[in-house]
Amino acid sequence: MVTDSQASPFKAYIFDLDDTLLDTYRCILPNAMAEACQAMVDQGLNASVEDCLNMHQQEVSARPRRSVFSTIIETFNGKSDQNEKIMNAGQKAFYDRKVIEPLDLTPGSEDVLKKASQFADVHLVTSGIESTQFQKIEKLNIGNFFNSITIVNTLDGESKLTAFANLLSDYNYRPEEVLVVGDRRDQEIFAGKTLGLKTCLIKYGEYRTLQPNCVEEIADYEVEDMTEMVQLCLVQP
Ligand SMILES: [Mg+2]
Repeated sequence: MVTDSQASPFKAYIFDLDDTLLDTYRCILPNAMAEACQAMVDQGLNASVEDCLNMHQQEVSARPRRSVFSTIIETFNGKSDQNEKIMNAGQKAFYDRKVIEPLDLTPGSEDVLKKASQFADVHLVTSGIESTQFQKIEKLNIGNFFNSITIVNTLDGESKLTAFANLLSDYNYRPEEVLVVGDRRDQEIFAGKTLGLKTCLIKYGEYRTLQPNCVEEIADYEVEDMTEMVQLCLVQP
């Protein structure tokens, strides 16, 4: 039982959504990727949906830093003036979709949100398309936990680094008072460390094997799941 004397060591938490709080890898990824492959095939990708899905699986583990959409399109179509149209169709189907699947939080997330919001501010910063991300938040019924929700549209070139910097300035936090929690070394961990925030990596989802390639991608804490995060980050020893 957490008591007031064991209050959070952080003034604020910034959570990622996909594959951090939400089990996107299991609940959404298979359908979203199948829809993206179908959309690319419909626009002229020279492959079957099955070829495309197999390539996605191989490429994400072999070259997780490369855009998997670019690799799939170049592999099957080479250089073609149709590629941009195919890419746009694939990305739109993947990111801008109706969320029909039942959704689950990752194990431990509900407990983490309850404890974090009891003692500190809690913010959500998630990448994607606004309408799709809000469907996820509503279906999970977690919106009330957050002091703020920011949707970063990476397809439009927006970045988590800017979103984090805005939170620091809007809420007047010192960097070391804030813990960023996410599954991507190359996104929220990099952005957090660059700004001097504390960071916690959840090793879950399709990018769990991504290795750090600079010091900013090495998180202060690394945990297997959110259950572990409660013990590591929320209760002072
Ligand atoms: Mg994520």
